[in-house]
Amino acid sequence: MNRQALHVPDRQIESGASGYLTIDLAALRRNYRKLSAMVAPAMAAAVVKADAYGLGSQPVSSALHAEGCRHLFVAHLVEAVKLRPLLPSDTQIFVLNGLQPETEITCAEADIVPVLNSLEQFRRWSLTARKLGRVLPAVLQFDTGMSRLGVPPEERTGLAAELEGGGNIEILFIMSHLACADEVDNRQNAEQLAEIGRIAAEFPGLSVCFANSGGIFLGDDYHGVLSRPGIALYGGAPMAGTPNPMEPVVRLDVAVIQTRTVPAGTRVGYGGAHVTSAETRLATIAAGYADGLPRCLGHRSAVFYEGVRLPIVGRVSMDSITVDITALPDGTLALGSLVEVLGPNQTLEDLAEAAGTISYEILTSLGRRYERRYR
Ligand SMILES: *Cc1c(COP(=O)(O)O)cnc(C)c1O
Repeated sequence: MNRQALHVPDRQIESGASGYLTIDLAALRRNYRKLSAMVAPAMAAAVVKADAYGLGSQPVSSALHAEGCRHLFVAHLVEAVKLRPLLPSDTQIFVLNGLQPETEITCAEADIVPVLNSLEQFRRWSLTARKLGRVLPAVLQFDTGMSRLGVPPEERTGLAAELEGGGNIEILFIMSHLACADEVDNRQNAEQLAEIGRIAAEFPGLSVCFANSGGIFLGDDYHGVLSRPGIALYGGAPMAGTPNPMEPVVRLDVAVIQTRTVPAGTRVGYGGAHVTSAETRLATIAAGYADGLPRCLGHRSAVFYEGVRLPIVGRVSMDSITVDITALPDGTLALGSLVEVLGPNQTLEDLAEAAGTISYEILTSLGRRYERRYR
């Protein structure tokens, strides 16, 4: 008798979750080690914004701490406030998006380091330092050509002058962000590198934090004293158009919730958007767009079972998709069986490409209804 038909117990989800999101913390640590070795003697921080790209900022941060990581970046203050009490005090947490007015005291009291993106933010942080009678740490971010965040060129002279006075602020390092780091041949990389070099000369004595995942692969010039990888730690490809050098960290297996056999000419799913052309065996799988499978994957992508490709037929529903399982021997899949959505047969990049998006969006959209298992 077929093993799957017997509902092999260790494949079952007893919590009632829709699937298993398995996060390989050992692979995450190996990825960190690899990136650290690449940037040495510079250090590698870790970007754990958006709940560590959906994988769980607490377990991810703890695993990276064990690997020697002492610098974590989040996007918003709210993320830092949540993470701060969960981490050892030897870890610094930086808020990339800066501080909104009136949040400075919260930030200072929680021992969180803001990235200051404008003269206005610098002045407010300086005022907070004076109010508290302390010297407060900060990072200065400069815009070097992305026009997203950071001190704009016209504010640099003013900022340098105010820094001369001290302002009760200790600048730990300066930073900037590359807009095209995943494209080795993009001219903007070298332009941004030259610009951060000019800025470093205007603010002597301060070291530079520059490279994200892609930037690390652009070479030593981009490494500064501290790099800020995110996606590469989580197994995403840091560079477009070359084989992914990172180890996969995520695997997603989702439960079969019903199977059926239908004759030719049967409509499947919302809108009757798919009509079978022959007798077809179908399985309905417990993940939909509310679980992070983009709706545009309908008709376009697949799941896998033991290496066999099972195409998605019809539209993606909120909580389920339907796949064609005719390629598998009858009875292979049954209620409770698990199929692979992400894993050895389908990488993050495969799924992202099918959805017309990037691995970052797939990861950060992974739903909250899966049971997260850490290995
Ligand atoms: C998200 C982010 C990173 C990490 O980028 P990856 O491409 O995931 O390595 C680094 N720096 C800044 C400013 C970011 O916003």
